[in-house]
Amino acid sequence: MAPSSEFPMLIDGSLVAGAASMPVVNPATGQVFTEAPDASAEQLDLVITAAKRAFPAWSERPIAERQGLLIKAAEAITAHTDELTALLTREQGKPLAAATAEIQASLGWFHYFAQMTPPVLVSEDSETRRVETRYVPLGVVCAISPWNFPVMLSCWKIVPALLAGNTVVLKPSPFTPLTMLRIGALLKDVFPAGVLNIITGGDTLGPKMTAHPGFAKISFTGSTATGKLVMQSASETMKRITLELGGNDAAIIMPDIDLDAVALKIFMGAFYNSAQVCTATKRLYVHEAIYDALRDRFVALAQAMKLGDGAEEGTVFGPIQNERQYRRVKALIEEARQQGLTIIEGPQGPQGGGYFVPITIVDNPPDDARVVTEEAFGPVLPLLKFSNVDDAIRRANASEFGLAGAVWSRDVHKAVEIASRLETGTVWINENLYLPPTAPFAGHKQSGLGVENGMDGLLQYMDPKTIYIPKAA
Ligand code: NAD
Repeated sequence: MAPSSEFPMLIDGSLVAGAASMPVVNPATGQVFTEAPDASAEQLDLVITAAKRAFPAWSERPIAERQGLLIKAAEAITAHTDELTALLTREQGKPLAAATAEIQASLGWFHYFAQMTPPVLVSEDSETRRVETRYVPLGVVCAISPWNFPVMLSCWKIVPALLAGNTVVLKPSPFTPLTMLRIGALLKDVFPAGVLNIITGGDTLGPKMTAHPGFAKISFTGSTATGKLVMQSASETMKRITLELGGNDAAIIMPDIDLDAVALKIFMGAFYNSAQVCTATKRLYVHEAIYDALRDRFVALAQAMKLGDGAEEGTVFGPIQNERQYRRVKALIEEARQQGLTIIEGPQGPQGGGYFVPITIVDNPPDDARVVTEEAFGPVLPLLKFSNVDDAIRRANASEFGLAGAVWSRDVHKAVEIASRLETGTVWINENLYLPPTAPFAGHKQSGLGVENGMDGLLQYMDPKTIYIPKAA
C-alpha cells in the first residue's frame, strides 16, 4: 500500500509517514478501517541513529528532570483519554470501559516511575576504601509489545526505560499499532528529539529490530515461540533481554469458598478481555465437592453477558483481536468437540464478519487434551475436577509455563501454603489480575526471563557499575 499519514510514526522528534502502509482491521467487523505505517529498513536505521544521538544528553540529564517529563507525558495522555479510549476499542475490540481502564492503568506507570530513583549500593566502607555500585543506563532500548493490552504493555517498557536514562524505539503489534502511534504524536514535544520513538511495520520489522546491532537491550512481550527467536537474535551482540511470554495459568478452587461471593470474580479472572490476558486463569482446578455448583454458575454467567462490538453499550466481552488468533481458538474448540468432550457455550455474538468466539466451558476434559495443555489465549476454559489438593498442585505445575496462578479459599493460611508450592512468578489469593506497577512481575520456566515493574523492573534497564574509591593516599 502507498504511504498514508493519518497515524504517523514518531522518529527523531518528527511525525513521519511509513515507507509503505499496512491495513488495520476492526475486529468487531473484520473490515479494514484505516492504515498504519510500514517502516522500511532505512527508516529503522534512521530511528536507531536518532535514538543513539539523543542518548548522551538524555542519560546525563538530572533524574529529577526525567521524572518531571514523565509527569508531563502522563498529563498529555490524560487530556486525550476519551479519544484514545475510542481508538483502542476500535483497533483492539475491547469494550469502551475496559479501554478506559487500560489507559488509566497505564498512567499509573508514569506516576509510579516518576518518583523512582535507582539506588547506590555500598558494599564496603572501610578505612581504606568505599565500594560503591551505581546503576547506569544501557543505550537504545528496543521495546516490542503485543496486541492484547497495546497501551499498557508498551508503557510497562517505555516508562522505566526512559526514567533509567535510555532512549527508546517502541514497536507495537501490527494488529494494534494506532493507539501508541497517537500517543507518540501527543508526546512529540514532551521529550527531546530522538528520546522516545515509535515505529510500526509488518511481520519482518520485529526480526530486523532484534538483529540490529544498534540496540543495547530488547524488552519483549509476546508468545513464547517468538520470545525464543528474540533470545537467539539478541545473542549476536549480547543484548540485554527481558522476555514476558505466554502462560497457561492454573487456579485452584478449594471447597470452602463462598460461591455467591466469588463465582463472578473467578469467572472474570478467566474471561476478562475475552480471555486475551497473559495472566488469565486458563485451567480451573475445582474441588469435587463444589464442582457441579461452580460449573452451573459459570454456565449461567456465560449466558448472561453480552458478547459484541466493544463500542456498543452493554458489551461485556468483545471479539478476538485478530483473524489468525480467531482461527486458532476456533480450531482448538473444534478439536475438543471432535474428541467428544463436553462443551458448553454462551451466546454466539454478532454474525457479520467480526471475530466473535462465545464464552466456552469445557467440562472436565482429560489432562492431556490440547485445550488443557496449550494456552488458548481466547475464551475457552477447561474446568478440571480434583479430590486431593496435592494432586491439584501437581497437575497445576505440570506445565512448561510458569507465569501466574491463583488459589481461592476462605482459609488464607492454607491458601498461602498452596501458593508457595505453585511454580509461577505471581500467585493471587482470592483475587485475580491485580498487577500494580510497584510489584515485580516475572515469568518462571518458559513464561519469560527477567522482571518488569517495581525497582527490579527499573534495574532491568540499567547495568550495575562498581567503583572502588580509595580513602587515604
Ligand atoms: P507474538 O509473539 O506473535 O507478537 C508479539 C510482538 O512481537 C508483536 O509486536 C510482533 O509483531 C512481534 N514479533 C513477531 N515476530 C517477531 C520476531 N521474530 N522477532 C521480533 N518480534 C517479533 O505475540 P502476540 O500474538 O502479539 O501476543 C500473544 C502472546 O503474548 C500470548 O502468548 C500471551 O500469553 C503473550 N503475552 C504475554 C504477556 C506477559 O506479560 N507475559 C503479556 C501479554 C501477552
